[in-house]
Amino acid sequence: MTTTSHDYDLIVLGGGSGGLAAAFRAAQHGKRVAMLEPDELGGTCVNVGCVPKKAMWLAADLAGRIGLARTMGFDVPLRPVLSWKELIVHRQGYIENIHVSYRKRLDETGVVRVPRRGRLLDAHTVECSDGVRISGEHIVLATGAHPQRPDIPGADLGLVSDDFFNLCDAPAQVAIVGGGYIAVELAGLLQALGSRVTLLVRGGRLLDRFDGELAAQLADNLCHQGVRIQFDYRLRELQRDSEGDRVRVLGHDGPLDSVFDTVFFAIGRRGNSQDMGLEQVGVQIGERGEVVVDEWQTTSVPSVYALGDLAGKEGLTPVAIATARHLMDRLFGGKPQAKMDFNNIPSVVFSHPPLGKVGLGEEEARLQFDDVRVYHSNFRPMLQALADGTQRSMFKLVCVGPDERVVGVHLLGEAADEILQGFAVAVKMGATKAQFDATVAIHPTSAEEIVLM
Ligand code: NDP
Repeated sequence: MTTTSHDYDLIVLGGGSGGLAAAFRAAQHGKRVAMLEPDELGGTCVNVGCVPKKAMWLAADLAGRIGLARTMGFDVPLRPVLSWKELIVHRQGYIENIHVSYRKRLDETGVVRVPRRGRLLDAHTVECSDGVRISGEHIVLATGAHPQRPDIPGADLGLVSDDFFNLCDAPAQVAIVGGGYIAVELAGLLQALGSRVTLLVRGGRLLDRFDGELAAQLADNLCHQGVRIQFDYRLRELQRDSEGDRVRVLGHDGPLDSVFDTVFFAIGRRGNSQDMGLEQVGVQIGERGEVVVDEWQTTSVPSVYALGDLAGKEGLTPVAIATARHLMDRLFGGKPQAKMDFNNIPSVVFSHPPLGKVGLGEEEARLQFDDVRVYHSNFRPMLQALADGTQRSMFKLVCVGPDERVVGVHLLGEAADEILQGFAVAVKMGATKAQFDATVAIHPTSAEEIVLM
Protein backbone atom coordinates (compact mmCIF):
# COMPACT_ATOMS: atom_id res chain seq x y z
CA MET A 1 0.00 0.00 0.00
CA THR A 2 1.35 3.42 -0.90
CA THR A 3 0.60 6.82 0.57
CA THR A 4 1.58 10.22 -0.78
CA SER A 5 2.77 11.51 2.60
CA HIS A 6 6.35 10.39 1.92
CA ASP A 7 8.85 11.77 -0.57
CA TYR A 8 9.19 8.33 -2.16
CA ASP A 9 7.32 5.05 -2.28
CA LEU A 10 10.65 3.27 -1.94
CA ILE A 11 14.13 4.18 -0.77
CA VAL A 12 16.85 1.66 -1.57
CA LEU A 13 20.19 1.74 0.24
CA GLY A 14 22.82 0.16 -1.99
CA GLY A 15 23.18 0.02 -5.77
CA GLY A 16 24.46 -3.52 -6.18
CA SER A 17 22.65 -6.42 -7.84
CA GLY A 18 19.86 -6.59 -5.24
CA GLY A 19 19.36 -2.85 -4.80
CA LEU A 20 19.26 -2.17 -8.52
CA ALA A 21 16.82 -5.02 -9.11
CA ALA A 22 14.53 -3.64 -6.41
CA ALA A 23 14.71 -0.10 -7.80
CA PHE A 24 14.05 -1.17 -11.39
CA ARG A 25 11.15 -3.47 -10.49
CA ALA A 26 9.49 -0.86 -8.24
CA ALA A 27 9.85 1.76 -11.00
CA GLN A 28 8.31 -0.73 -13.43
CA HIS A 29 5.33 -0.86 -11.07
CA GLY A 30 5.05 2.92 -11.41
CA LYS A 31 6.52 3.79 -8.01
CA ARG A 32 8.66 6.79 -7.02
CA VAL A 33 12.07 5.41 -6.13
CA ALA A 34 15.29 6.87 -4.70
CA MET A 35 18.44 4.76 -4.62
CA LEU A 36 21.46 5.71 -2.53
CA GLU A 37 24.86 4.47 -3.71
CA PRO A 38 28.04 6.42 -2.94
CA ASP A 39 30.29 4.21 -5.09
CA GLU A 40 30.10 2.70 -8.57
CA LEU A 41 26.86 1.01 -9.51
CA GLY A 42 26.79 -2.77 -9.56
CA GLY A 43 28.19 -3.50 -6.10
CA THR A 44 30.42 -6.47 -5.38
CA CYS A 45 29.30 -8.57 -8.35
CA VAL A 46 30.13 -6.04 -11.04
CA ASN A 47 33.12 -4.32 -9.47
CA VAL A 48 35.01 -6.77 -7.24
CA GLY A 49 33.22 -10.08 -7.64
CA CYS A 50 31.53 -12.27 -10.25
CA VAL A 51 32.23 -10.13 -13.33
CA PRO A 52 35.96 -9.33 -12.99
CA LYS A 53 36.51 -12.81 -11.48
CA LYS A 54 34.90 -14.45 -14.52
CA ALA A 55 37.11 -12.33 -16.81
CA MET A 56 40.17 -13.67 -14.99
CA TRP A 57 38.75 -17.19 -14.98
CA LEU A 58 38.21 -17.03 -18.74
CA ALA A 59 41.83 -15.95 -19.19
CA ALA A 60 42.98 -18.81 -16.94
CA ASP A 61 40.79 -21.21 -18.91
CA LEU A 62 42.39 -20.00 -22.14
CA ALA A 63 45.84 -20.59 -20.62
CA GLY A 64 44.85 -24.22 -19.96
CA ARG A 65 43.49 -24.62 -23.47
CA ILE A 66 46.64 -23.15 -25.03
CA GLY A 67 48.56 -25.92 -23.21
CA LEU A 68 46.21 -28.57 -24.58
CA ALA A 69 46.39 -27.05 -28.07
CA ARG A 70 50.17 -27.36 -28.00
CA THR A 71 49.95 -31.06 -27.09
CA MET A 72 47.53 -31.57 -29.96
CA GLY A 73 49.97 -30.15 -32.48
CA PHE A 74 49.42 -26.40 -32.52
CA ASP A 75 52.63 -24.43 -32.80
CA VAL A 76 52.26 -22.35 -29.64
CA PRO A 77 55.05 -21.56 -27.15
CA LEU A 78 55.47 -23.75 -24.09
CA ARG A 79 54.94 -20.73 -21.82
CA PRO A 80 52.83 -18.17 -23.66
CA VAL A 81 53.21 -14.75 -22.09
CA LEU A 82 50.12 -12.98 -20.81
CA SER A 83 50.04 -9.22 -20.52
CA TRP A 84 47.97 -8.74 -17.37
CA LYS A 85 47.78 -5.06 -18.13
CA GLU A 86 46.09 -5.72 -21.46
CA LEU A 87 43.76 -8.26 -19.90
CA ILE A 88 42.81 -5.68 -17.26
CA VAL A 89 42.06 -3.07 -19.93
CA HIS A 90 39.57 -5.52 -21.51
CA ARG A 91 38.13 -6.46 -18.11
CA GLN A 92 37.63 -2.90 -16.94
CA GLY A 93 36.20 -1.86 -20.33
CA TYR A 94 33.57 -4.56 -19.95
CA ILE A 95 32.75 -3.32 -16.45
CA GLU A 96 32.53 0.29 -17.59
CA ASN A 97 29.95 -0.76 -20.22
CA ILE A 98 27.86 -2.26 -17.43
CA HIS A 99 28.09 0.99 -15.43
CA VAL A 100 26.97 2.97 -18.47
CA SER A 101 24.02 0.68 -19.11
CA TYR A 102 22.90 0.85 -15.44
CA ARG A 103 23.10 4.66 -15.42
CA LYS A 104 21.08 4.78 -18.63
CA ARG A 105 18.46 2.44 -17.25
CA LEU A 106 18.12 4.43 -14.02
CA ASP A 107 17.55 7.58 -16.09
CA GLU A 108 15.05 5.85 -18.36
CA THR A 109 13.05 4.39 -15.49
CA GLY A 110 13.04 7.62 -13.49
CA VAL A 111 14.84 6.21 -10.44
CA VAL A 112 16.50 9.05 -8.54
CA ARG A 113 20.12 8.12 -7.88
CA VAL A 114 21.60 9.73 -4.80
CA PRO A 115 25.42 9.30 -4.74
CA ARG A 116 25.60 9.34 -0.94
CA ARG A 117 25.66 6.98 2.00
CA GLY A 118 22.49 6.88 4.04
CA ARG A 119 21.51 6.23 7.64
CA LEU A 120 18.12 5.51 9.05
CA LEU A 121 16.67 8.09 11.40
CA ASP A 122 13.38 6.28 11.89
CA ALA A 123 11.29 3.61 10.19
CA HIS A 124 10.61 5.87 7.17
CA THR A 125 13.38 8.48 7.14
CA VAL A 126 16.89 8.29 5.69
CA GLU A 127 19.53 10.92 6.23
CA CYS A 128 21.98 11.16 3.34
CA SER A 129 25.66 11.82 4.13
CA ASP A 130 25.26 15.44 2.94
CA GLY A 131 22.58 15.99 5.60
CA VAL A 132 19.57 15.88 3.27
CA ARG A 133 16.66 13.90 4.71
CA ILE A 134 14.24 11.92 2.59
CA SER A 135 11.30 9.78 3.59
CA GLY A 136 9.92 6.61 2.06
CA GLU A 137 6.90 4.41 2.62
CA HIS A 138 9.22 1.43 2.34
CA ILE A 139 13.00 1.15 2.81
CA VAL A 140 15.08 -1.66 1.32
CA LEU A 141 18.54 -2.32 2.74
CA ALA A 142 20.83 -3.89 0.13
CA THR A 143 24.30 -2.74 1.13
CA GLY A 144 26.03 -6.09 0.65
CA ALA A 145 28.93 -7.55 2.62
CA HIS A 146 32.69 -7.22 2.86
CA PRO A 147 35.53 -9.75 3.22
CA GLN A 148 36.60 -10.67 6.74
CA ARG A 149 40.12 -10.80 8.14
CA PRO A 150 41.07 -13.19 10.92
CA ASP A 151 41.84 -11.85 14.36
CA ILE A 152 45.54 -12.74 14.37
CA PRO A 153 48.78 -10.76 14.69
CA GLY A 154 49.87 -9.37 11.32
CA ALA A 155 46.42 -9.71 9.72
CA ASP A 156 46.95 -6.35 8.01
CA LEU A 157 49.78 -7.94 5.97
CA GLY A 158 47.22 -10.06 4.12
CA LEU A 159 44.99 -9.01 1.25
CA VAL A 160 41.33 -9.83 0.60
CA SER A 161 39.48 -10.61 -2.61
CA ASP A 162 38.78 -6.90 -3.33
CA ASP A 163 42.55 -6.33 -3.51
CA PHE A 164 42.97 -9.12 -6.05
CA PHE A 165 41.41 -6.84 -8.64
CA ASN A 166 44.11 -4.20 -8.07
CA LEU A 167 46.93 -6.59 -9.01
CA CYS A 168 48.73 -5.70 -12.24
CA ASP A 169 50.69 -8.93 -12.45
CA ALA A 170 50.75 -12.43 -11.00
CA PRO A 171 52.60 -12.47 -7.65
CA ALA A 172 55.24 -15.22 -7.76
CA GLN A 173 54.38 -17.00 -4.49
CA VAL A 174 50.85 -16.74 -3.11
CA ALA A 175 49.25 -18.22 -0.01
CA ILE A 176 45.47 -18.28 0.21
CA VAL A 177 43.80 -18.86 3.57
CA GLY A 178 40.38 -20.54 3.33
CA GLY A 179 38.70 -23.46 1.61
CA GLY A 180 35.47 -21.92 0.31
CA TYR A 181 34.32 -20.39 -2.96
CA ILE A 182 36.78 -17.52 -3.14
CA ALA A 183 39.85 -19.46 -1.96
CA VAL A 184 39.29 -22.21 -4.53
CA GLU A 185 38.54 -19.81 -7.37
CA LEU A 186 41.53 -17.56 -6.63
CA ALA A 187 43.84 -20.56 -6.27
CA GLY A 188 42.91 -22.01 -9.66
CA LEU A 189 43.08 -18.81 -11.59
CA LEU A 190 46.26 -17.42 -10.00
CA GLN A 191 48.04 -20.74 -10.56
CA ALA A 192 46.96 -20.75 -14.22
CA LEU A 193 47.99 -17.12 -14.71
CA GLY A 194 51.52 -17.54 -13.43
CA SER A 195 51.61 -17.71 -9.60
CA ARG A 196 52.74 -20.61 -7.43
CA VAL A 197 49.81 -21.07 -5.05
CA THR A 198 49.57 -22.65 -1.60
CA LEU A 199 46.07 -23.14 -0.22
CA LEU A 200 45.83 -23.19 3.59
CA VAL A 201 42.59 -24.87 4.66
CA ARG A 202 41.66 -25.14 8.32
CA GLY A 203 39.32 -28.11 7.79
CA GLY A 204 39.88 -31.51 6.24
CA ARG A 205 38.20 -30.77 2.89
CA LEU A 206 37.35 -28.01 0.44
CA LEU A 207 33.91 -26.46 -0.07
CA ASP A 208 31.85 -28.00 2.67
CA ARG A 209 28.60 -26.83 1.05
CA PHE A 210 29.34 -29.07 -1.97
CA ASP A 211 29.32 -32.83 -2.41
CA GLY A 212 32.29 -34.38 -0.59
CA GLU A 213 33.39 -36.75 -3.35
CA LEU A 214 33.37 -34.06 -6.00
CA ALA A 215 35.17 -31.63 -3.69
CA ALA A 216 37.87 -34.28 -3.17
CA GLN A 217 38.21 -34.72 -6.94
CA LEU A 218 38.45 -30.94 -7.29
CA ALA A 219 41.27 -30.89 -4.72
CA ASP A 220 42.99 -33.56 -6.81
CA ASN A 221 42.57 -31.47 -9.96
CA LEU A 222 44.04 -28.43 -8.18
CA CYS A 223 47.06 -30.48 -7.12
CA HIS A 224 47.56 -31.63 -10.73
CA GLN A 225 47.52 -27.99 -11.73
CA GLY A 226 50.37 -27.38 -9.29
CA VAL A 227 48.51 -25.90 -6.33
CA ARG A 228 49.83 -27.06 -2.96
CA ILE A 229 47.04 -27.73 -0.48
CA GLN A 230 47.57 -27.97 3.28
CA PHE A 231 44.51 -29.31 5.07
CA ASP A 232 43.99 -29.01 8.84
CA TYR A 233 46.16 -25.92 8.80
CA ARG A 234 45.78 -23.60 11.76
CA LEU A 235 47.03 -20.12 11.05
CA ARG A 236 48.64 -18.26 13.94
CA GLU A 237 50.33 -15.16 12.62
CA LEU A 238 51.68 -13.28 9.62
CA GLN A 239 55.07 -11.56 9.82
CA ARG A 240 57.06 -9.41 7.45
CA ASP A 241 60.23 -11.26 6.37
CA SER A 242 63.66 -9.77 7.08
CA GLU A 243 63.80 -7.87 3.76
CA GLY A 244 60.42 -6.38 4.53
CA ASP A 245 58.61 -6.95 1.26
CA ARG A 246 57.42 -10.53 1.67
CA VAL A 247 55.23 -12.25 4.22
CA ARG A 248 56.04 -15.22 6.43
CA VAL A 249 53.09 -17.41 7.42
CA LEU A 250 53.17 -19.04 10.84
CA GLY A 251 50.84 -21.83 11.85
CA HIS A 252 50.26 -23.34 15.24
CA ASP A 253 52.58 -26.15 14.18
CA GLY A 254 55.43 -23.82 13.20
CA PRO A 255 56.17 -21.64 10.17
CA LEU A 256 55.66 -22.77 6.58
CA ASP A 257 58.80 -23.49 4.63
CA SER A 258 58.28 -20.56 2.32
CA VAL A 259 57.64 -16.86 2.48
CA PHE A 260 55.05 -15.39 0.16
CA ASP A 261 54.84 -12.32 -2.01
CA THR A 262 51.13 -12.15 -1.28
CA VAL A 263 48.79 -13.71 1.25
CA PHE A 264 45.05 -13.62 0.64
CA PHE A 265 42.35 -14.18 3.24
CA ALA A 266 39.21 -15.78 1.82
CA ILE A 267 37.47 -16.72 5.04
CA GLY A 268 33.93 -15.48 4.52
CA ARG A 269 32.16 -12.14 4.54
CA ARG A 270 30.33 -9.87 7.00
CA GLY A 271 27.21 -7.86 6.26
CA ASN A 272 27.63 -4.11 5.71
CA SER A 273 25.22 -3.13 8.46
CA GLN A 274 27.40 -0.79 10.47
CA ASP A 275 27.02 3.01 10.65
CA MET A 276 23.53 2.93 9.15
CA GLY A 277 21.58 3.74 12.29
CA LEU A 278 20.00 0.28 12.22
CA GLU A 279 20.30 -0.59 15.90
CA GLN A 280 18.91 2.82 16.91
CA VAL A 281 15.71 2.29 14.92
CA GLY A 282 15.36 -1.28 16.15
CA VAL A 283 16.56 -3.34 13.16
CA GLN A 284 17.98 -6.59 14.50
CA ILE A 285 21.50 -7.55 13.40
CA GLY A 286 22.98 -11.05 13.56
CA GLU A 287 26.43 -12.34 14.54
CA ARG A 288 27.98 -11.96 11.09
CA GLY A 289 26.73 -8.40 10.66
CA GLU A 290 23.75 -9.67 8.68
CA VAL A 291 20.35 -8.03 9.00
CA VAL A 292 17.86 -10.52 10.38
CA VAL A 293 14.80 -10.94 8.17
CA ASP A 294 11.77 -13.21 8.02
CA GLU A 295 10.73 -15.24 4.97
CA TRP A 296 9.25 -12.04 3.43
CA GLN A 297 12.58 -10.16 3.80
CA THR A 298 11.04 -7.98 6.49
CA THR A 299 13.32 -6.85 9.31
CA SER A 300 12.24 -6.32 12.90
CA VAL A 301 10.95 -2.90 11.72
CA PRO A 302 7.92 -3.57 9.46
CA SER A 303 8.60 -0.89 6.79
CA VAL A 304 12.27 -1.88 6.48
CA TYR A 305 13.45 -4.89 4.43
CA ALA A 306 16.85 -6.40 3.74
CA LEU A 307 18.03 -8.67 0.94
CA GLY A 308 21.08 -9.97 -0.87
CA ASP A 309 24.41 -10.51 0.90
CA LEU A 310 23.31 -8.19 3.72
CA ALA A 311 20.52 -10.61 4.63
CA GLY A 312 23.19 -13.32 4.87
CA LYS A 313 21.28 -16.31 3.53
CA GLU A 314 22.70 -17.19 0.10
CA GLY A 315 25.38 -14.78 -1.03
CA LEU A 316 24.73 -15.14 -4.73
CA THR A 317 23.87 -12.37 -7.20
CA PRO A 318 20.94 -14.13 -8.90
CA VAL A 319 19.44 -14.83 -5.48
CA ALA A 320 19.64 -11.14 -4.54
CA ILE A 321 18.00 -10.18 -7.83
CA ALA A 322 15.21 -12.75 -7.60
CA THR A 323 14.56 -11.87 -3.94
CA ALA A 324 14.33 -8.16 -4.78
CA ARG A 325 11.89 -8.76 -7.63
CA HIS A 326 9.63 -10.96 -5.49
CA LEU A 327 9.63 -8.36 -2.72
CA MET A 328 8.73 -5.54 -5.10
CA ASP A 329 5.99 -7.64 -6.71
CA ARG A 330 4.61 -8.27 -3.23
CA LEU A 331 4.76 -4.64 -2.10
CA PHE A 332 3.78 -2.92 -5.32
CA GLY A 333 2.74 -5.50 -7.92
CA GLY A 334 -0.42 -6.96 -6.42
CA LYS A 335 1.18 -10.32 -5.58
CA PRO A 336 0.74 -10.62 -1.81
CA GLN A 337 2.23 -14.13 -1.69
CA ALA A 338 5.37 -13.41 -3.74
CA LYS A 339 8.55 -14.42 -1.92
CA MET A 340 11.88 -16.04 -2.63
CA ASP A 341 12.05 -19.84 -2.71
CA PHE A 342 15.48 -20.72 -1.33
CA ASN A 343 15.21 -24.39 -2.34
CA ASN A 344 17.09 -25.80 -5.30
CA ILE A 345 19.29 -22.79 -5.95
CA PRO A 346 21.95 -23.79 -8.47
CA SER A 347 25.48 -22.65 -7.72
CA VAL A 348 28.84 -22.96 -9.45
CA VAL A 349 32.40 -22.62 -8.21
CA PHE A 350 34.59 -21.32 -11.03
CA SER A 351 37.42 -23.76 -10.58
CA HIS A 352 39.20 -25.48 -13.49
CA PRO A 353 37.04 -27.28 -14.48
CA PRO A 354 34.05 -25.76 -12.68
CA LEU A 355 32.07 -27.46 -9.93
CA GLY A 356 28.30 -27.03 -9.88
CA LYS A 357 25.40 -28.24 -7.81
CA VAL A 358 21.67 -27.95 -7.55
CA GLY A 359 19.57 -29.51 -4.83
CA LEU A 360 20.62 -31.91 -2.13
CA GLY A 361 24.01 -33.48 -1.68
CA GLU A 362 24.20 -37.22 -0.98
CA GLU A 363 24.81 -36.67 2.74
CA GLU A 364 21.94 -34.17 3.05
CA ALA A 365 19.56 -36.47 1.15
CA ARG A 366 20.39 -39.42 3.44
CA LEU A 367 19.51 -37.28 6.45
CA GLN A 368 16.12 -36.36 4.98
CA PHE A 369 15.03 -39.56 3.14
CA ASP A 370 15.25 -43.33 3.86
CA ASP A 371 15.28 -44.34 0.25
CA VAL A 372 18.25 -42.67 -1.48
CA ARG A 373 19.93 -43.90 -4.63
CA VAL A 374 23.05 -42.31 -6.07
CA TYR A 375 24.35 -42.58 -9.65
CA HIS A 376 27.94 -41.72 -10.58
CA SER A 377 29.93 -41.05 -13.68
CA ASN A 378 33.68 -40.53 -13.54
CA PHE A 379 35.34 -40.00 -16.89
CA ARG A 380 38.06 -38.18 -18.80
CA PRO A 381 36.45 -35.62 -21.13
CA MET A 382 37.30 -35.97 -24.81
CA LEU A 383 39.61 -32.96 -25.09
CA GLN A 384 41.62 -34.16 -22.07
CA ALA A 385 41.83 -37.66 -23.51
CA LEU A 386 42.91 -36.39 -26.95
CA ALA A 387 45.58 -34.16 -25.44
CA ASP A 388 46.77 -36.72 -22.86
CA GLY A 389 45.48 -34.46 -20.10
CA THR A 390 45.02 -35.77 -16.57
CA GLN A 391 41.90 -33.88 -15.58
CA ARG A 392 38.86 -36.03 -14.79
CA SER A 393 35.19 -35.13 -14.60
CA MET A 394 32.83 -36.49 -11.98
CA PHE A 395 29.03 -36.28 -12.18
CA LYS A 396 26.58 -37.46 -9.58
CA LEU A 397 22.78 -37.73 -9.40
CA VAL A 398 21.00 -38.05 -6.07
CA CYS A 399 17.56 -39.68 -6.34
CA VAL A 400 14.95 -40.42 -3.67
CA GLY A 401 11.81 -42.46 -3.21
CA PRO A 402 10.29 -45.30 -5.22
CA ASP A 403 9.95 -43.08 -8.31
CA GLU A 404 13.59 -41.98 -7.98
CA ARG A 405 12.91 -38.25 -8.04
CA VAL A 406 16.15 -36.43 -8.81
CA VAL A 407 16.79 -34.17 -5.82
CA GLY A 408 20.44 -33.38 -6.53
CA VAL A 409 22.63 -32.89 -9.59
CA HIS A 410 26.35 -32.44 -8.94
CA LEU A 411 28.78 -31.79 -11.75
CA LEU A 412 32.53 -31.37 -11.72
CA GLY A 413 33.80 -31.00 -15.25
CA GLU A 414 34.22 -29.14 -18.46
CA ALA A 415 31.31 -26.72 -19.05
CA ALA A 416 29.54 -27.76 -15.82
CA ASP A 417 28.71 -24.06 -15.37
CA GLU A 418 26.80 -24.02 -18.66
CA ILE A 419 25.29 -27.51 -18.43
CA LEU A 420 23.82 -27.12 -14.96
CA GLN A 421 21.26 -24.40 -15.71
CA GLY A 422 18.97 -26.66 -17.77
CA PHE A 423 19.19 -29.49 -15.26
CA ALA A 424 18.31 -27.01 -12.50
CA VAL A 425 14.99 -26.51 -14.31
CA ALA A 426 14.45 -30.28 -14.37
CA VAL A 427 15.16 -30.61 -10.64
CA LYS A 428 12.88 -27.67 -9.85
CA MET A 429 10.12 -29.38 -11.88
CA GLY A 430 10.56 -32.61 -9.92
CA ALA A 431 11.93 -34.76 -12.77
CA THR A 432 12.58 -38.46 -12.11
CA LYS A 433 15.54 -40.62 -13.05
CA ALA A 434 13.30 -42.41 -15.57
CA GLN A 435 12.62 -39.07 -17.29
CA PHE A 436 16.36 -38.35 -17.41
CA ASP A 437 16.86 -41.85 -18.92
CA ALA A 438 14.13 -41.23 -21.49
CA THR A 439 15.92 -38.11 -22.75
CA VAL A 440 18.02 -38.78 -25.84
CA ALA A 441 21.71 -38.03 -25.33
CA ILE A 442 23.63 -35.41 -27.32
CA HIS A 443 26.74 -37.18 -28.54
CA PRO A 444 29.66 -36.78 -28.08
CA THR A 445 29.50 -34.37 -25.14
CA SER A 446 30.20 -34.41 -21.45
CA ALA A 447 26.58 -33.46 -20.74
CA GLU A 448 25.27 -36.72 -22.21
CA GLU A 449 26.71 -38.56 -19.21
CA ILE A 450 23.90 -37.10 -17.12
CA VAL A 451 21.21 -38.95 -19.06
CA LEU A 452 23.29 -42.13 -19.50
CA MET A 453 24.03 -43.00 -15.87
P1 NDP B 1 32.98 -19.29 2.18
O1 NDP B 1 31.95 -19.23 3.22
O2 NDP B 1 32.65 -19.91 0.88
O3 NDP B 1 34.27 -20.04 2.74
C1 NDP B 1 34.92 -19.56 3.89
C2 NDP B 1 36.10 -20.47 4.15
O4 NDP B 1 36.95 -19.85 5.09
C3 NDP B 1 35.73 -21.82 4.70
O5 NDP B 1 36.58 -22.77 4.14
C4 NDP B 1 36.00 -21.64 6.20
O6 NDP B 1 36.36 -22.82 6.84
C5 NDP B 1 37.20 -20.75 6.16
N1 NDP B 1 37.42 -19.96 7.37
C6 NDP B 1 36.52 -19.23 8.05
N2 NDP B 1 37.12 -18.61 9.09
C7 NDP B 1 38.42 -18.96 9.05
C8 NDP B 1 39.54 -18.64 9.82
N3 NDP B 1 39.45 -17.82 10.87
N4 NDP B 1 40.73 -19.18 9.50
C9 NDP B 1 40.85 -20.01 8.45
N5 NDP B 1 39.82 -20.34 7.65
C10 NDP B 1 38.61 -19.82 7.95
O7 NDP B 1 33.47 -17.77 2.01
P2 NDP B 1 34.25 -17.03 0.84
O8 NDP B 1 34.93 -15.89 1.50
O9 NDP B 1 35.05 -17.99 0.03
O10 NDP B 1 33.07 -16.50 -0.06
C11 NDP B 1 32.06 -15.67 0.50
C12 NDP B 1 30.75 -15.90 -0.20
O11 NDP B 1 30.74 -15.24 -1.47
C13 NDP B 1 30.42 -17.35 -0.51
O12 NDP B 1 29.89 -18.00 0.57
C14 NDP B 1 29.44 -17.20 -1.65
O13 NDP B 1 28.17 -16.97 -1.12
C15 NDP B 1 29.92 -15.95 -2.38
N6 NDP B 1 30.72 -16.29 -3.57
C16 NDP B 1 30.12 -16.96 -4.59
C17 NDP B 1 30.84 -17.29 -5.72
C18 NDP B 1 30.18 -18.04 -6.84
O14 NDP B 1 28.96 -18.10 -6.87
N7 NDP B 1 30.94 -18.63 -7.75
C19 NDP B 1 32.25 -16.93 -5.87
C20 NDP B 1 32.77 -16.24 -4.72
C21 NDP B 1 32.03 -15.93 -3.63
P3 NDP B 1 35.29 -23.76 7.59
O15 NDP B 1 34.58 -24.50 6.50
O16 NDP B 1 36.16 -24.58 8.45
O17 NDP B 1 34.38 -22.82 8.35
